[in-house]
Formats: sequence, structure tokens, C-alpha cells
Amino acid sequence: MIKTDFLVIGSGIAGLSYALKVAQRFPEKKVLVITKTRIDETNTKYAQGGIAGVTDFENDSFDKHIQDTLIAGDGLCNPRTVEIVVTEGPERIQEIIDWGTRFDKDDEGDYKLGREGGHSEFRILHHKDVTGKEIERALLETVGKQKNIEINKHWFVLDLITQHHLGYLVTKSTPDIECFGVYALDQQTNKIVTILSRITLLATGGNGQAYRTTTNPKIATGDGVAMVYRAKGRIENMEFIQFHPTALYEPGVSPSFLITEAVRGDGGILRNNKGEAFMVRYDSERKDLAPRDIVARALDNEMKRAGTEHVWLDCRHMDKDRFFEHFPNIYEKSRSIGIDPAHDMIPVAPAAHYSCGGIKVDEWGHSSIHRLYACGECSSTGLHGANRLASNSLLEALVFSHRCYLDSIQQVETAPFMENVPEWKTEGTTEPDEMILITQSLKELQLLMTDYVGIVRTYTRLQRAMKRLDLLHEEIETLYEMTAVSPQLCEVRNLITVGYLIVKEAQFRKESRGLHYITDYPEKSPILQNIVL
Ligand SMILES: Cc1cc2nc3c(=O)[nH]c(=O)nc-3n(C[C@H](O)[C@H](O)[C@H](O)COP(=O)(O)OP(=O)(O)OC[C@H]3O[C@@H](n4cnc5c(N)ncnc54)[C@H](O)[C@@H]3O)c2cc1C
Repeated sequence: MIKTDFLVIGSGIAGLSYALKVAQRFPEKKVLVITKTRIDETNTKYAQGGIAGVTDFENDSFDKHIQDTLIAGDGLCNPRTVEIVVTEGPERIQEIIDWGTRFDKDDEGDYKLGREGGHSEFRILHHKDVTGKEIERALLETVGKQKNIEINKHWFVLDLITQHHLGYLVTKSTPDIECFGVYALDQQTNKIVTILSRITLLATGGNGQAYRTTTNPKIATGDGVAMVYRAKGRIENMEFIQFHPTALYEPGVSPSFLITEAVRGDGGILRNNKGEAFMVRYDSERKDLAPRDIVARALDNEMKRAGTEHVWLDCRHMDKDRFFEHFPNIYEKSRSIGIDPAHDMIPVAPAAHYSCGGIKVDEWGHSSIHRLYACGECSSTGLHGANRLASNSLLEALVFSHRCYLDSIQQVETAPFMENVPEWKTEGTTEPDEMILITQSLKELQLLMTDYVGIVRTYTRLQRAMKRLDLLHEEIETLYEMTAVSPQLCEVRNLITVGYLIVKEAQFRKESRGLHYITDYPEKSPILQNIVL
């Protein structure tokens, strides 16, 4: 058994920035960060475009950023959360700069600001086209200097410990469900360890792996959301999955390589198989820089009409040196598969990219379970509403990790370690002898989510998806009862739960709004509703 004052699950921007703050505030207290694979293998590391924030107060303003966020969110943003994130954002950005993050500057020393779809001004700070990698580097370097932070790599968190594990009946209507820590599998020793904590923060990231084509790395399996749902906590707005319109089309390669929206911000044009710049037909004003849901649906439609698996991104007219300087990673990747962006168009297709919903939290990052906070992509703060504005997620992670920090330092002194928590039971289980049962379930899940619960949905497709999910759920639960736990088994189990939540909430939403487009209900309902399970 391990005891820690602060337990942080996840080593992306949300988890690391929180860990740093609590560790600096309380040098005598122990902060334990758990991460399921390599320390930097996170969605954060793959972020390209940058982080949105108002830094140029001559041309930009908080009001403009707030308006852009609200417009993208299509009526479902919580205006208070939007205001909090936008106005507190610049201070949080300054903190990561102070921790060593380098954003690109021009010759005068001013930040070079990028612009992406849905933004009315240039306000995206970036480090070439590898912003996330740079932020993760700076955070890890700073965390490395903080003596009271311990990091357990290759530890897989299985479940939250609540009153349920002490033998009490816990249901959705139980008041005061409390989190006492987690059970985690140490993958080096293959032992399941009980970790007791005063405060637990979930920063477990996204769930793109529920889909066959995704920009998210393998770790993005919605573990935090599934754990909270199992512990009877509240989950909301899972139907709003953002598909990035322009992932590089490379059949059989997962995750898909992202071509950031900033390329369109710099002049890249989408063309169909006839070479037509089609975006003008879908959004005559904003064209290629329309919000992502509009662009993704336009691509989906063009591909379905032409029977093609991709469209083209045309950068041939763009300044070659500027392209290379701003997007070296994209340039290298394109060249590695025989495409020279100066002469060839780049094949692109939409891919599951970002989960707008997740663990429901209030404005201080409290989940519905006491002593359990959540921030970053696994949480639902109300910032994104029905659609995330590009580059707002890194910002949200920073603002909310700070708020979780401010609140949890008030709580830590009065949160005791729970006694008498039983060890994880392993009797009666055997090592899995048929990995195919796990890998096939994953493939089936990803296929059904892509085919039935993608960019354009129908009532019938959702119904079909739910039937198949029921069967997958039954099979995986049986396997889970009989088999020794492994990350692979738990991830599929979690992804099936995530799939269920996405479909269930999509079925409840009898309208089309933001990222949820269903042909049976093409209009918006006059009633604004967050769907909570
Ligand atoms: C290709 C790509 C490009 C993007 N570009 C941008 C961009 O330009 N701007 C922007 O704002 N956003 C962007 N995003 C989104 C943004 O990167 C993410 O939303 C954000 O980084 C999420 O950070 P996080 O800290 O919440 O989670 P992550 O960075 O994903 O970290 C999750 C952590 O949780 C750990 N974890 C998960 N489950 C378990 C478990 N069971 N046990 C132990 N550990 C666990 C993982 O190991 C990992 O350490 C992009 C995303 C992708 C994939």
C-alpha cells in the first residue's frame, strides 16, 4: 500500500501543471503522479497548432475571444466558464513561459500569433508546429527539479476507491460519494497496489481510440471517464466528439498524423477530387476557416458524393520558406511519404480528435465525487459546449488545473486517509490465453463507432450501435470476471463504456447542434440542455 497527500493521474499538461503547483505550495507534502506508459506519451505531446490566449490587446480583446468561443460552442457553453478561461488564460500562459516554454517570436521579440478556424483574430501562441511537445518538455524539466514529486511510469490505474469498496451500496443517488484513492497495476511487477490519497486529480485525457481513425495516441482510451462512471459519478456531453477535418490520409496508420488548422490559417485550401475549392459552398464567408464541425461535415459530404476516401489540401501557392519555417514537422512528414507540399496536394480526411464532454466538474474542478477533481480533456467544464474552438483545450487544462490547485489546497488538511480499505481481489482469475478476444473486441468497437457514430448520425445507426455495444459489453464483462487484469483488457472495457456513453447521450439529444449532427433531427431544439448520465 502507498499513501500520498496528492495523487495525480496523468502526465499531460493538466496533470503536470497541477502537480507542480501543489508540490511548490507544500514542499513537505508528497505528490504522486501516475502515468500508464512513457511519461511523455500524452495527447499533450502531439498538440501542434498552439494555445489560444489574448496577448495582443491592441488588436484583440477578451470579449472577442469570449464571443468566438461561444459561437463555436453553439449555445451550450457555460458563459461563466468561458469568461473564466479566457480572462484567466493569459496569466496561466505566462506561468508556462516562466517554466521554460518557448513560443515563437518575430525579429522584434513579439510573439508570432497564429490564427485557426473560428478565431476572429490572430491569438494562437505556438512553437513551430510542435507546441505540445515543447510544453511537455518544459513541464517535465520543471517537475524533474521538484523533489517532492514522484512519478510512477507504466502504472495503470484500474479503479477509484470509494465507499463501494468498504462494502456499502453506492448508487447514482448516493449523496457524498467519496474517493479514497485508486487501485493501480504496476506493470513492471504485475502487482496491483492500493494507493490511498487525501486528494485525487484525474487528468487522464481523451478517448479518440474509440474510433478507428483518430489523431489521438494509443493512451487515449477514456479511462478516467469510465472509472468515474463505474464509481457512479456524473458524466456529460459525451456525444460531442470533434473530428479534425484534416488528418493525413494514410490507410492503415494509427494514430493519424494531424495537419493543423494553422495551415489553412496561413492560406491552405481544401479541394475535392475535381480540384474544386468546395468550402465556399458550405460557408461562403469563412470558407476554409469555418469552425471544425462545418469543415468536417463538408469533407464527409464531398467524400461520400464522390465515393473517395479523402480530399486534398492545397498548399502549393503558399510561400515555401514560410511553410517550412512554420510547419517543419508537417513538411518532413509529407516528404517522408513522397509528397512535397510545394508541388503536390496533401491527401486529408477527418479523424476523431477531441472529446468536448467528460467528467462533469464545477468551476473549481470538483467532480460529483468528493475529494476527486478532474481537469484537462477528461473533464467537462462547460467551456466547449457543443463544439471546441481550436486551441482552447490546452488553455482550459491550464486554467482548470490552477483552479483545482486553489481549491484542493484548502481541502487537503482536513481530508484523512481512509482506513480498512481492502486489497484488490485476484482470486479465481487466470492469465488471458486468448488475446484475440480482447483485440477483436477493440476492432469491432472502433469500426462500429466510426461507421455508426461518426460525423453524420442517424437514429437507426445509433440504435444499431447500441445493440452491438450491449453485446460487446456483455462479452468483455465476462472476460473481466474470469481474467487477470491487464491494461489491454481494461482499456477495451473502458472504451466500450465510453462508446456506450457517447451513443446513449447522442440518443437523448433529439436535435442537431455543434458536433452532434443527426439527419432525423436536423434543426436545433429551442431548449438548451446538457445531457448528464
Ligand atoms: C494531434 C493532436 C493535436 C492537438 N492540437 C492541439 C492544439 O494545437 N491546441 C490545443 O489546445 N489542443 C490540441 N489538442 C488537444 C490537446 O492536446 C489535449 O486536449 C490536451 O493535451 C489534453 O491534455 P491532458 O493533460 O488532459 O491529457 P493528456 O495529455 O492526454 O494526458 C493524459 C495522461 O493520462 C494518463 N492516463 C490515462 N489513463 C490512465 C490510466 N488508466 N492509468 C494511468 N495513467 C493514465 C496517460 O498516460 C497520460 O499521461 C491536440 C490533440 C491531438 C491528439
